[in-house]
Amino acid sequence: MDGSSLSKELLFIQENEKVPYDLLSKFAEEPKYLELYIQKYGLKFYQKCIFSLTHISFDVQEAQRKWDQIIKHRKELNTLLKRDVGLKVAAFDFLDNFAIRDFDMSVIETGKIADIVDFATTDQLTALYVRSIFDEILYKEFEQYLRNKNTLSLLMIDIDDFKTLNDTYGHQKGDDVLRKIGEILLDTVRKSDIACRYGGEELSVIMPHTDMETAFDVAERIRKTIENTDIDGIKTTISIGVSETTESLKDAEELVKQADDALYLAKNEGKNRVCKSNETIY
Ligand code: GH3
Ligand code: MG
Ligand code: MG
Repeated sequence: MDGSSLSKELLFIQENEKVPYDLLSKFAEEPKYLELYIQKYGLKFYQKCIFSLTHISFDVQEAQRKWDQIIKHRKELNTLLKRDVGLKVAAFDFLDNFAIRDFDMSVIETGKIADIVDFATTDQLTALYVRSIFDEILYKEFEQYLRNKNTLSLLMIDIDDFKTLNDTYGHQKGDDVLRKIGEILLDTVRKSDIACRYGGEELSVIMPHTDMETAFDVAERIRKTIENTDIDGIKTTISIGVSETTESLKDAEELVKQADDALYLAKNEGKNRVCKSNETIY
């Protein structure tokens, strides 16, 4: 692509507006495209990009340096992991492993760093980990399983008839229900489990060192607690699919796929239930 054919597509980004994530991803793929925005908005555009990605303010020069470092870090991670980790995970991993250590403390107070990392990794509504953290941790835990053969289980959770709930009580109440379910999840799982918001009204729990039977019991406990909880006069239920690592699984994606299939079965069998992946027919 050459610059002239791209220039017409430039998005107008207001002073106080963040750069959308898909645009940041495009910049990462197409440095020339980013250059066009730099020409239009000046070098301070790097600050905007880095802030949109990490929620950290750097001065212009440092922001430009961080952008280049994150792009480089992504390439390294991709080579190492033999898959594309994406920009967000690369940024988080870079921040977590390197940037915080050589952080210029004049830019930000030390006490705020934990808050910022927390903000970038935690879903603001449910207080669960965000999807990119789910991907990252699941990948690492799966690698751990391949090395040590300690069984790893996964729960995929989906709220039943959530669209109807939103339509009946309004989106705000829907948000309250999601928030409460996040709280119940965090209260029910162990400290070593990783509870995430997979996307929308789908949640997940990564359970290291846990077999299917134990994971099933935890899932049942979560399901029953939610069934019996009154959230501001609203009752709701969830369905859960459980999978565990077995010899036949090649990678973490297959573990997700198996839990997804089990979740699909739970929905088909009437919702408000937990199904195991070994109950599904392939
Ligand atoms: P099923 O039992 O088959 O899962 O049906 P469902 O209605 O839950 O599933 P569907 O996929 O049709 O709808 C999911 C709904 O979840 C639609 C979407 O608006 C809502 N949703 C996703 N994220 C949020 C959110 O953050 N807040 C609120 N209030 N609703 C959300
Ligand atoms: Mg859903
Ligand atoms: Mg649903």
